[in-house]
Amino acid sequence: MNERKHFYNLTIILIFITICIGFAFLYLHESKSKRTIFSDGSLSEGNQHYYAAGSAGDIAGTTLVVSIFADDQNTSWDETDAADVEKMAKIQEYLTIAGDYLEDVVADYQKEADFITDFSNNTDLKYHMSMDIVATDQDVLDSGEIDEIAWDYISRSIDTENLKTKYQADNVIYMLYIDSDVTNPAVTCTRNWYEGMPSEAEIVYLFNIDYEMTNCPAVYAHEMLHTFGAPDLYMEDEDYNVTASFMDYVNEHLSNDIMLTCSDATTGDYRYDAITNEVSEVSAYYIGLLEQSDIAEQWNLTIPVYE
Ligand SMILES: [Zn+2]
Repeated sequence: MNERKHFYNLTIILIFITICIGFAFLYLHESKSKRTIFSDGSLSEGNQHYYAAGSAGDIAGTTLVVSIFADDQNTSWDETDAADVEKMAKIQEYLTIAGDYLEDVVADYQKEADFITDFSNNTDLKYHMSMDIVATDQDVLDSGEIDEIAWDYISRSIDTENLKTKYQADNVIYMLYIDSDVTNPAVTCTRNWYEGMPSEAEIVYLFNIDYEMTNCPAVYAHEMLHTFGAPDLYMEDEDYNVTASFMDYVNEHLSNDIMLTCSDATTGDYRYDAITNEVSEVSAYYIGLLEQSDIAEQWNLTIPVYE
């Protein structure tokens, strides 16, 4: 067991070092003000990311969104503090907009989805945990340390099977909110499923503020779409055959795809009252809403399969 765990840890560390170099490269080449780059803590090597598997599979179904407010060594959620209460209410608002948006997207493809996001009225969808780490340290995210802590908390404190039965849910997404401020150097990301993952739980680590901006509903939806298998369209990805030339195509023809940008196309800024980005044919294809896509055929886009 120890040997396996050791090997697993080494593998994770190596993979994350690769990702760090990749993100350092991206960071140097992308203007921060563009606000379209979101690191994902996703694994960039091997056939092991963005699968529609784990706790979230088919978006056409009922998805339960479990909200976890997480304290760390530097930040905390204080429900007796008016400012924090207001922030939590905003998170509820943005999460609701994201869920409603995803329902509409699925309906556009003649399928049906239900996102249960209301933690204000459903107390069993809201949790409060404490993590003995600095969650705003990107290395802590990249090393997988935060995953281990969150998975442990989820398995001990959240009766997922019971919730799935109660809400008749097919999928579960865990949103873990960190009360970061403008000094936060880390970036919102999603621990989406990969082959061999020690837990089924797919977790969005949502910083209330990153890139010096409060995250908007489009970021919530973008991250949730990762758990259903949508890859980012702003970086090359061998597994999905997102090549540099396909990225050029996306920038020219699908420039408002939510997996490319979360900013409003007209103003270039985040919007907090609505999501104006689109789930294009390409992203719909990647999450299985479309079985056939001319663009996917033309560009030979691939969806990795796992055994
Ligand atoms: Zn992303």
